[in-house]
Amino acid sequence: MQLLKERILKDGTVKPGNVLKVDSFLNHQIDIQLLNEIGKEFKRRFADCPITKILTIEASGIGIACIAAQYFDNVPVVFAKKTQSINLDGEMYSTKIESFTHKKVYDVILAKKFLTAEDHVLVIDDFLANGCAMLGLLDIVKKSGAALEGAGIVIEKGFQQGGKLIRDMGVRLESLAIIDSMTDDSLTFRE
Ligand code: 5GP
Repeated sequence: MQLLKERILKDGTVKPGNVLKVDSFLNHQIDIQLLNEIGKEFKRRFADCPITKILTIEASGIGIACIAAQYFDNVPVVFAKKTQSINLDGEMYSTKIESFTHKKVYDVILAKKFLTAEDHVLVIDDFLANGCAMLGLLDIVKKSGAALEGAGIVIEKGFQQGGKLIRDMGVRLESLAIIDSMTDDSLTFRE
């Protein structure tokens, strides 16, 4: 997605530890016009899928998913919640996710009533790096019995393993910008 790539080049900054900061338009301040274009692009790429629900994870996935949902006939958005400890209770799906940016393991939970075997799910998130967050979300989808239609990512760091891992599982993964390499002073995209 050209508009997104241009914005990453203009406003993204590379931090130590292979972290791309996009705080001025995606992760802290949010550019709604850009998010609208991102939502339209997800719809264009998954137009043939009978999506009934969008699944994401707090916090940064929520805004992206909510705007995208408006282009999918206003399907509900449900987000997995991160919690430090869980009292396992029968009404929740739970899975563990290791955070790339915070280097912590979270329990992640989702109420069973909000994702069921009748659902056709599109999973959306801001970044794909090592794939832990996505694997956790896919685990929740699997536990729910819902049909996984695909996964949409705004920025994939193609030099980390997540993309290959998820595609090798046979998941239809669409990333709007795939970064092949990044350093302090250069950033390249996959065509
Ligand atoms: P993964 O689980 O694929 O390793 O990492 C995905 C999650 O980590 C995303 O939900 C995102 O919040 C965060 N993340 C991973 N890499 C980056 C990055 O380079 N920049 C930012 N801002 N977030 C990242």
